[in-house]
Amino acid sequence: MGQGLSCGEPHEHGLFRAVQNGEIEAVEAMVDEEPRVLEKTTASNGRLSALHLAAANGQIQVLSMLLDRSVNPDVLNRHKKTPLMLAAMHGKISCVERLIQAGANILMFDSLHGRTCLHYAAFYGHPDCLQAILSAAHSTPVANSWGFARFVNIRDKSGATPLHLAARQGRPECVHILLDSGALVSASTGGYGYPGITALHLAARAGSLNCVRELLAWGADRLQRDSSGRIPYTVALKHKHGACAALLNPSAPEPLIWPSPLKFIAELNPEAKALLERALMETNKEREKAILKETVCSLPSPLHSEAGDDDDISEASDVELCCICFDQVCTMEVQTCGHKMCANCTLALCCHNKPNPSTPAPKPPVCPFCRSDITRLLVAEIKTKNDTQVEFSPSKPRLSRKSFNTSEGSSSFKGLSAMGSFGRLGGRSSGKVSSECDGDKS
Ligand SMILES: [Zn+2]
Ligand SMILES: [Zn+2]
Repeated sequence: MGQGLSCGEPHEHGLFRAVQNGEIEAVEAMVDEEPRVLEKTTASNGRLSALHLAAANGQIQVLSMLLDRSVNPDVLNRHKKTPLMLAAMHGKISCVERLIQAGANILMFDSLHGRTCLHYAAFYGHPDCLQAILSAAHSTPVANSWGFARFVNIRDKSGATPLHLAARQGRPECVHILLDSGALVSASTGGYGYPGITALHLAARAGSLNCVRELLAWGADRLQRDSSGRIPYTVALKHKHGACAALLNPSAPEPLIWPSPLKFIAELNPEAKALLERALMETNKEREKAILKETVCSLPSPLHSEAGDDDDISEASDVELCCICFDQVCTMEVQTCGHKMCANCTLALCCHNKPNPSTPAPKPPVCPFCRSDITRLLVAEIKTKNDTQVEFSPSKPRLSRKSFNTSEGSSSFKGLSAMGSFGRLGGRSSGKVSSECDGDKS
């Protein structure tokens, strides 16, 4: 290719610079003048095409223009990386979305590590890109040919799934999204790292307390051994991650585990789910405090849950308290019977400490007030007398009765009933396009 362009060196240099800088008019002019300039690749960087450069730099306008001119969305560089992989690697969500829209194949493997775009989004920690690719996997031919579950657990050359890479790199949000999408929490890598290690081993090695928490809350087994017989606890100790080791110590109390019983609630809507997830993580953090207190390590304080100043605490006498614990606000409502309780009590009903593989599947939880099966949970409307905005952390368990705390990332519940205003509370970026990603250089 490119025979006709042998004298065009400065031309193509100019092209790549213009693409990188998002100079759309300049790029268009060059392409109009000589369409075959697009066949050129950079001399360095593994021979990137103009589309690769646009994707890696988040130049969405240039990228769109190139795609509109029928540039192959799956053009490969020397290492068989696609523009979609580069966009996912650099967290350029709008480019990821545009490429997928243009038909980019999410099931391509590079030649370096045999990784897909999903691996790259997980490894580099871009939850929005990860989510976009997973959404595409539901609707594209991948779902038919491979099946979604297989795609989520896709392995690279050395046997690493996206979950392994996210745990290895300490990307708790990506870990969460992947687990929530069906990633197998206890899958071992095969060859990546040490033979037989799991995501929990990798998180332990990275010292990522948040990843360890997520994995444990999804039922990762602290006793699972790699092929040399090491449990994650040993790995954390070896790498001197005291806090992780404390949680991974098999003799420490088990955390609450999220999914199994809640799976029986067929229609757990996203708002209710986000609220419960948050409550679960908060509850586990409370439980961790006791564990971590005993360890000699000084934490960089991921447990930022000291009660706020008294100024932050507002009287809540006019808010409906949970009739089970009389401690927290009713945030959950059983849809069929309308009974309400707080998120913590809901969790207590639904979660158990340790799934026992030998027992048959547990029954769906029942409403503690009327004993009817809980088949659907909703976020209860928070009623206050004067409808002032009440801020509180939904699961803060250790505050004096009738009081709320506004510290630590709490969100307003005022808008809870309004659809779509809740996404923030879950703390996950749910595939939302953030425009600031678009224009910036990497
Ligand atoms: Zn309660
Ligand atoms: Zn009931």
